[in-house]
Amino acid sequence: KNLKKYYPITGGVLGGEVGVVKAVDDVSFAVKRGETLGLVGESGCGKSTTGRSLLRLIEPTAGEITFDGVNVTALSTDEMRKMRRDMQIVFQDPFASLNPRHNIEKILEEPLVVHKIGTSSERKKRVQEMLEVVGLSSYHARRYPHQFSGGQRQRIGIARALMLNPKLIVADEPVSALDVSIQSQVLNLMQDLQKEMGLTYLFIAHDLSVVRHISDRVGVMYLGRIVELTTSGQLYSNPLHPYTKALLSAVPTPDPDDVRERVILQGDVPSPANPPSGCTFHTRCPHVTEECRSTRPAFQDVGDGHFVACHLYKQ
Ligand code: SF4
Ligand code: MG
Repeated sequence: KNLKKYYPITGGVLGGEVGVVKAVDDVSFAVKRGETLGLVGESGCGKSTTGRSLLRLIEPTAGEITFDGVNVTALSTDEMRKMRRDMQIVFQDPFASLNPRHNIEKILEEPLVVHKIGTSSERKKRVQEMLEVVGLSSYHARRYPHQFSGGQRQRIGIARALMLNPKLIVADEPVSALDVSIQSQVLNLMQDLQKEMGLTYLFIAHDLSVVRHISDRVGVMYLGRIVELTTSGQLYSNPLHPYTKALLSAVPTPDPDDVRERVILQGDVPSPANPPSGCTFHTRCPHVTEECRSTRPAFQDVGDGHFVACHLYKQ
């Protein structure tokens, strides 16, 4: 609720604070138990910062994070460590996140060791089980990360996140680094695991076509803010925000009846260190008015939980 993450920019001769990057600027949303909420936007829009802030891998500047009725923002470091049993993350680059000097058994066992769970033989048994759950044979336990393909390494990353039986997984672009042919295998695995283990996903991606099938609802981020949030079905069939429309018009569809207008956005994404006033999308929006330049549009429900931040849809 009202999540913000601001980074000071230091510089100048005296190294003082010369500005601030508003990486996440007043973002509010809920992830329902058992659902997949997709979070989409171009690189630098604040989606990873949002995901990491939920787990407090990044300390938010302001806002409140509630997980399972507990105010996570108020927890001590020690309490937060315990809470992280239930909240895990899968990273984009599985190779960078797996210690190259440790074999897979050691990598997967580590969360159990940290949380002092089970005896050594119980932990090893759990490693074997989890390898099979993610579609790898248990003989892989003795191998090292470099001996696996990208897709296999992401399966290992997922297994590690699941070792503690979490409730929520923040998946930060889990398939972006993989070949397209491997992406759907990993997405299917994640969907199967969700059903079997009752998982809740916050699924971060820069590509609308990746989140389409896995997400129940999707939030679209632009320059540190969520500009639209609704069900997957609504977002793709009835997008409201001009930015969402532009993103969607760039996704090719196989449907010959698809007569969507191709929207070409003018200019680049402005710097988050110097975001435009009012609606931060106004420098690129084909529908910009004077009001858009001066007043930030509220993020509001325009019906059936379809949220949008745009003056075109004022209630
Ligand atoms: Fe465009 Fe104005 Fe809506 Fe922003 S508020 S998206 S500038 S119409
Ligand atoms: Mg990112």
